[in-house]
Amino acid sequence: MLLSIDEGITGYRDDSLETVKQNRDDYEMPLKILSYKDLYGWTMDEIVAQIGRKNNCTFCGVFRRQALDRGAAMLNVKCIATGHNADDIAETVLMNVLRGDIARLKRCTAITTGSEGTIPRVKPLKYTYEKEIVMYAHYKKLVYFSTECVFAPNAYRGHARALLKDMEKIRPSCIMDIIYSGETMSIKEEVSLPTQRLCIRCNFVSSQEVCKACVLLEGLNKGLPKLGIGKSSKVKKLLDEYNTRQNNLETAVKDLEDCNITDKKTSKTCKNISNGFKQKECNATNCCTNKTERNVEKNNEKLQTVLDKYSLENNSQVKLDEEDSDDSEIKHQDEDDTCSSSCGRLGVGF
Ligand code: SF4
Repeated sequence: MLLSIDEGITGYRDDSLETVKQNRDDYEMPLKILSYKDLYGWTMDEIVAQIGRKNNCTFCGVFRRQALDRGAAMLNVKCIATGHNADDIAETVLMNVLRGDIARLKRCTAITTGSEGTIPRVKPLKYTYEKEIVMYAHYKKLVYFSTECVFAPNAYRGHARALLKDMEKIRPSCIMDIIYSGETMSIKEEVSLPTQRLCIRCNFVSSQEVCKACVLLEGLNKGLPKLGIGKSSKVKKLLDEYNTRQNNLETAVKDLEDCNITDKKTSKTCKNISNGFKQKECNATNCCTNKTERNVEKNNEKLQTVLDKYSLENNSQVKLDEEDSDDSEIKHQDEDDTCSSSCGRLGVGF
C-alpha cells in the first residue's frame, strides 16, 4: 500500500502528490493520502505564516512522524517502508553529531526501528546512494519528482548536506564511512537515554508524558507557536505562565466591568476643522474623517489599578520571544529524520 502525507506546502507537495497518484495508477496499488490539515487542523503554509521560516521544519518533521504512524494504523499494516537512502542516513548521522543528539544518533542508522507496541519502520534503501537511485529511475523511465520543498533552504539539515557533498568530492566513500561510523558508535552505559512510552493525550509513541506533536499543536492553537520550540522544562514554564495570565485575564475582565472606558472622536486628525471648512458637520464628537482615538479616562483610577494589578500592558508574545532568544543551540533539535531529508530532491514513488 502507498501512504503519502500531504503537509500542505503549495508549490511542492501538491506537485509531488501528482507523481504518487501516477505511481498508484501505474502499479495498481491502493494509495492513502493523509493531510496535516485533516489531522491537525493546520497546513504547513499556515504554520509558516505563524512561526516564520526559522523553525518550520521542526513542526513538519514531528507532525510527519506521527502522521505516518497514524496512516499506518489506519491501513492496518505491519510495517512502514520509507525511502531514506544512504545520503540521507549519512546526513542524519552528521546532523545528530553536530547537535549532540545522542538518542537520535543511536537509532538513526538502524535499518529497522520501532519500540514495542508501535508499527516498525524499515529503510530498504539505506545502503543505496542517491545517485544510483536517480540513475535507476532515469534509465528505467520511472515517474519521479524532483521539486525541492520551498522551505528546504532554511532547514538545518541543509548545512549537514552541504558539508557532506563537499567531503564526498574529496573522498567518495565518505557516505558509507559515516554510516559505518554511526552503526559502530557505542554510547556509554551511564548516559541516560529517553524511554519510549505513549502520549497521554493522543496515545502515539513519545519520549515525554505529552508528545512533541501535541505540545506543538497546543502552541499553535493557543497563539503561542514557539511553545514547543525548546527544552521541555522551558515549555512547561511558558505554558504555566500562559495559563496564569489567562486566569488573570478572566478575573480582570470581571473587575473591568464597572470601569469607564470611552471612545471619543479626536479633532486633531481633521483638517476641515482647522481650515474652518465644514465646521458645522465636524466637531469633537462627530467628525467627517470618521477617525477615532480610543481614550481611557485618565482619571479612572480603578482601571489603572486593575491594569497594574494584572500587568495587562505587557505583551505575552514579546515575553516569549525574549525568553526564546537564548535557545539557539536547541532550535533544530526536533527536525526529524523522517523528513526523508531530500524533501523533494528525489521522490521515486515514496
Ligand atoms: Fe517539511 Fe522538509 Fe519542507 Fe522542512 S524542508 S518544511 S521538513 S518538507
